[in-house]
Order: sequence, then C-alpha cells, then structure tokens
Amino acid sequence: MSITRNDVQQKLDSLLMTVERPASYIGGEPNSVLKEDGSFDVRFAMCFPDTYEIGMSWNGLSILYNILNKTDFCYMERVFAPKTDMQSAMKKCGLPLFTLETKTPVKNADIVGFTLQYEMAYTNILCMMDLAGIPLYSADRSEDDPLIIAGGPCAFNAEPLADFFDAVLIGDGEELLPEFCRIYGECRRTGLTKRETLLKLQELQGVYVPSFYKPVYGEDGSFVRMEKTEPSAPDRVLRAFLSDLNKVDYPECPINPLTEVVQERAVCELFRGCTRGCRFCQAGMIYRPVRERSKEKNFEYAVRQLENSGYDELSLLSLSTSDYSGFEPLMLDLIDYCKSRKISVSLPSLRLDNFSFRILDEIQGMRKTGLTFAPEAGTQRLRDVINKNITEEDILGAIDKAIDLGWNSVKLYFMIGLPTETDEDVEGIADIAEKIMDLARSKNNGMRGRFSVSVSVANFVPKPFTPFQWVPQNSPEEFARKHDLLRNRIRRIKGVTLHYHESFVSTLEAVLARGGRELCGVIKRAWELGCRFDSWTEHFNEDAWRTALKECGIGEDHYSLTGIPTDAPLPWDIIDSGVSGEFLLREYNKAAEGRTTPDCRVSCNGCGINKHTDCACEGMLK
Ligand code: SF4
Repeated sequence: MSITRNDVQQKLDSLLMTVERPASYIGGEPNSVLKEDGSFDVRFAMCFPDTYEIGMSWNGLSILYNILNKTDFCYMERVFAPKTDMQSAMKKCGLPLFTLETKTPVKNADIVGFTLQYEMAYTNILCMMDLAGIPLYSADRSEDDPLIIAGGPCAFNAEPLADFFDAVLIGDGEELLPEFCRIYGECRRTGLTKRETLLKLQELQGVYVPSFYKPVYGEDGSFVRMEKTEPSAPDRVLRAFLSDLNKVDYPECPINPLTEVVQERAVCELFRGCTRGCRFCQAGMIYRPVRERSKEKNFEYAVRQLENSGYDELSLLSLSTSDYSGFEPLMLDLIDYCKSRKISVSLPSLRLDNFSFRILDEIQGMRKTGLTFAPEAGTQRLRDVINKNITEEDILGAIDKAIDLGWNSVKLYFMIGLPTETDEDVEGIADIAEKIMDLARSKNNGMRGRFSVSVSVANFVPKPFTPFQWVPQNSPEEFARKHDLLRNRIRRIKGVTLHYHESFVSTLEAVLARGGRELCGVIKRAWELGCRFDSWTEHFNEDAWRTALKECGIGEDHYSLTGIPTDAPLPWDIIDSGVSGEFLLREYNKAAEGRTTPDCRVSCNGCGINKHTDCACEGMLK
C-alpha cells in the first residue's frame, strides 16, 4: 500500500525536532506555490541534489518554478537532498523522500527532474532516488514509476549518469521544459506508454533519450561511437535556444526561505552568455550567444523582486556583469532606488579591464568590503593561452584605484594546472600578490589598518565543449607539488593568504566531466560504498571513490592524465551545443601557440552558433 501525504506529515512531525535545520524540510515559505489536486495534469518534482541551503540559492530553480507554476497544466514542487542525519532518520521510520509544497511522496510525481550543476553532486542523485523508493536504472522502472529527467550545465555530458535517466534536456529550459511537460501530460492522458511518450518527446529540440542510443567500445575499452537503438532518434541532439530573454517571464516573487540559506537576496539575471571566449570556461561556450534583457525589464524585475520579498540586498547576476551594454545607466537607476531604501547591491562577476569604480564607489558608499577579481593565471603568457585578455597593468591599475577609494583588501581567483603551465607561471601568482602589496605599501595614502590580499587557487578541470576538452589534467601529486611551491613563496609575503582545494576531488571531477556511460557503474558503486555530499570536504570519501573506480576497472587517470587525441570520438559528441567542433579545435591550436582571440563584441570569431540562432554579439561595443 502506498504511503499517503498524511502519513508523510505525521512521520515528518515525529522526527523534525531530532534533526539539524528542521525548517529546511517543512516548506510553506512566503511566495511558495500551492495548487489544488485536479487543477493540473502533471506533477513535477524538481530535485536539487544538494541541501536546501544551497539549492534555494540557485537562480534557475526560481526561474523554472515561476514559469511552470504559471501554466495550468503543470505543478512544480521542490525537493532537496536531506542532510545525512535526516537521511538516517527517514530510513529508520520509513519516511520516503517528499515534496516540500504538498508532502507528496516523490515516487508519486509524474516527472522527477534533477538539475546537474556540478559533478560532485552525482551520488546525491542516487541517494535521492533511493530515498524516494524509485528504481535507479531507467531499464528497471515500470510504467507506474515517474519519468526521471535531468538538465543543467553538466547535462551537456550526462553520459556518466545516462543509465539512470529517461530523458535529458539540453540547453535553455524556459521554453523547452513547459513544452516537454505539456506533451508528456497529453501523451499519458491518451494512454501512451512511457516509450511511446519518449518517442514523441525526442522530437523536441534539446531532448536526448539515452536509451535510444548505445555506446560502442573498442577492445581496449575506449569509446568508439554511439549507435542508435531507435531508428527515429536524431543523429545528434541540438541544444534548445531561448532566442529572446525579454519574451519569457522572470520571477517577481522569489520564495522567502524560513531558515538561513547561502544567498538571501533578490537576484536579477541581466543577460545570458558571454562574449569573452575564455578557453577554460564551459559556461562561456555552452550559453552562447549573449542575450540581453532590456534595461527597462531588468529594472522592473529587480524592483518587483525587492518589493515582493523584503530582501535588503540585490545581486546582479551574469557571467560578466559589467559587460552588460547598458551597465552604467541601469546601475545608476538601481543605486538611486536602493540607496534611499537602505538596500545594498552586489555585483558578483566583474572584469578588471572595464571595471566601473564610479559605480562601485556609489554602491558601497562608506562600507568598503573586499573586492574580488579573477586574473585566473599568474603570467601574461599563460593568460594569453587561456584567452583571459587581461594585462598586469589592468590588474595593478584597478587595485591602485581601489586603494585610492579606500579599499583595504582584495580577493584574487586563480587556477593551477592550466595547459602549458610551468613553475614560472605558478610563481607568477605569488609575484602578482607581491606587486599588489608593494603598491599598497608605496601608496600609504592614509589607509587605516593593513592592506591584505587573499589568493584563492582552484585546480584546473578540463570540461567538455571547451577548447580545452582534449587536454591532460595535472595528477593529484603534481597539483600538490604546485600547491607547495606556491605556499612556500606566499608565506614569505606579509599580508597575503593562500587557499586551495583538495587535489583528488579535482581528478574525480575531470573523470566525471569527460567520462562516458562506463561510469554509471562507478557512481552507483561509490554511492553503495557510502559516498554522498562529495563536494563537502567533511563528507568526501577518497578511499571509497578509489575502491569504486578499481572495482569497475576504471583507471584514476580515465580521460584525465593522458589527454584525448583531437581526432578521437568523444562520448559527448552525441550532443550539439551549437558551437562547432572546428571552432573549439581552432581555439585549442591557438592556445598552444599562445595566440589570443578577440572579444566577440569586436569581431565575430566564427564559433558557428549563428547557424542555429540569431547572434547579436558582434558590434555590441560599437
Ligand atoms: S557567432 Fe561570432 S559573435 Fe556570435 S558568439 Fe559566435 S563567435 Fe561570437
């Protein structure tokens, strides 16, 4: 007999006071949506495979929740990964995973969707399916089980999870997801089976049905090609494009969490895409072309979000916020609105070369908190390799102005292990930090207290659909050696601190990012061995992952340390991101020669996206 909502509520009530952060399991937050049973066709359980605190800060959830819940055919409810204490308590008392809004068991939803934001959340997906009582493998599920789907940036190579999903949605979700749900509802109402429904759904641009394809491997276990098992399946699945951001709704009433979450603020996405062409950046490639929302709409959405939420902070989100063509006028209007209401404005992604100190000074007023910049590499040579078109003069010039305006700390983001990197490049990171400290000391313009620089170093992870998709990654030992090299240099510079990440996590990230379907067994085995919340240092279990890889016969260097020949078939070739393989290869070769490619706003670089959708990037600067 299946469990009812009342059963769920009773069991939940009985254990809430025994777990950490009970408010993250109760729902009922202001602006969350309740729909009556029978008023819609399709119940969609939107699963974020990490905690409530993290998932509630993901803007995509807010966007899709708003769009789907405005339809009369679909009801989207939220589900987050319960923390480990809650997972144990749920298992103990037989409480299955449930939706926050109506406490419906997730197993009773029509569609269960997972967002794939980062690879280290993959085991949480299996955890959530298991807690819901849903068979993990798509082949083991019956007509009565929900359809399990996925989307998000990592969905561009969902092969390591392909056996678990019935369908994967590639690209912008605003138009694709509602249409997918509408067709699903229609098909099921008319009595079509799941397979017949998937055959219809795969006709939508951006829908990939993994079971309609089978990977073929060579004798040495390397990927050879994808073979169709369903003749009507497309040869390649082209991603979905949202051509005009102004045509789709943006949330005006964000949900107000009842407990603290990572980012508690109104969020406005000014534009999607990026024209800069950094060669390591997957988002910069897969979200092409740039699509801007109008200044009027951005202002309107920002104000409505603030009014409807009561938040006292507004964040302007985009891949490179200060590249927005109407940046200064929009900012001046928003600052005018926010100042009198004591609302602060944050700009999470700014560039060093077009940085508007006038705006920053207006925003921060007297409250000079840390400034954050991302030079990414320590020398000009390596910045040219990665196409991060920023010079040392840009960096020092920006810091010089910041000091004049009263800032006394700066945070710098770098990557280590980038292609062609030498020890000189690694030491270049310390050199920049030292030059900044020298500059701060030499200016000595009445700053109170000491100036400080925080250097944060991420390990480079090569990602599919970028010009670096073929490159080898540093081994964990090489990462560790470079960390030591940098630490020894930086500890001699007063006022500079260094932060870096675990090396084996980055190795695993590269394996999961570039692997194929052969990894489904590894992920399942790692989950069986207790892996979950792998992106949390306190939960990451290196030994269990190593065991899972070994037991499945997959080397820790799988697609990782050796690199991939540029003419080798790739597991993710089945997906067409719209950016051509020729462009990626051209960029890869230019990187090897240390040649840069200009910003798309200066001239078109022929990435191929304009064959599929309008691209207005070129000429935006004129
Ligand atoms: S089509 Fe040209 S301008 Fe548009 S994103 Fe591609 S390279 Fe840039």
